[in-house]
Amino acid sequence: MAHPPALVNLPIITPSDLGPDAAGPRLPPWLKRNVPKGNANHFTARLLEELRLETVCDNAKCPNRMECYSQKTATFMILGNVCTRPCGFCSVAKGKTLGIVDDEPERVAEAAARLGLAHVVITSVTRDDLADGGAEHFYRCVLAVRERTGAAVEVLTPDFLGKSGAIERVVSSRPEVFNHNTETVPRLYRDVRGRKSDYRWTLELLARVKRLDPSIKTKSGLMLGLGETHDELLDTLVDLLDAGCDLLTLGQYLQPSPEHLPVVRYVPPEEFDELGLAARRMGFSQVASGPFVRSSYHAREMAGQVATN
Ligand code: SF4
Repeated sequence: MAHPPALVNLPIITPSDLGPDAAGPRLPPWLKRNVPKGNANHFTARLLEELRLETVCDNAKCPNRMECYSQKTATFMILGNVCTRPCGFCSVAKGKTLGIVDDEPERVAEAAARLGLAHVVITSVTRDDLADGGAEHFYRCVLAVRERTGAAVEVLTPDFLGKSGAIERVVSSRPEVFNHNTETVPRLYRDVRGRKSDYRWTLELLARVKRLDPSIKTKSGLMLGLGETHDELLDTLVDLLDAGCDLLTLGQYLQPSPEHLPVVRYVPPEEFDELGLAARRMGFSQVASGPFVRSSYHAREMAGQVATN
């Protein structure tokens, strides 16, 4: 793997710089935030409760959830709230999964309609226990939301463990954006995502979506601060571009609890800015890069900017 030389002048970190003493630094000032005013966040939370819907915002303890809820937006998490993968950064519950609830697509569509969403993001836990990994349910949710609201739909899917026909089924629902997160660089991949996950599957999934339907925008995201080096990060961006990835998100990893992977480094906002600029120059159509950026943070604006470019 290679990357364009010297796109940005960033400090070079090597794995030997990232010893145990570096783990768990104190929260820097740029990660402290004010709680948004108003009660729109309560409206969103109540609606989600009434319709018995899960959001990744709550389950993953996203730091932006109050801001997003107050803007009446949320990322719906389908297929339950229990995951079959053990990712060390993620606070979604792991363990015994529940059956698929048949009317969930209609309830997601109802919530999207009542929130007045123009861009709906649908994600899921990973369901390795299902024969199709949950692909058919994704398909039904995309269609239900589109039919009820006419909104653009972004799916953020798991890798489906290579289950035959799963990616094809989701692609056939023709979401505007197909997102699958890379999360971290290849050296750290299995430590961060567990042994059932493979960096090459992530790249192959993104490339396959593009081959199946080049009109769908593909998107991926990485968390920074897990111990990746600058060169490893740029190599990963090159891999993503080679896989035809259009949109990129870069955000700070935050440790949800002491049981989760430690933060190795807090990346300063100006470094996120430089990385975002570098990624744009490398060829991504749109990049969101900043300490609080998450894969669906300001997703509508990001997809909309591409559409008008
Ligand atoms: S697969 Fe997704 S939901 Fe499951 S633990 Fe990993 S990041 Fe969390």
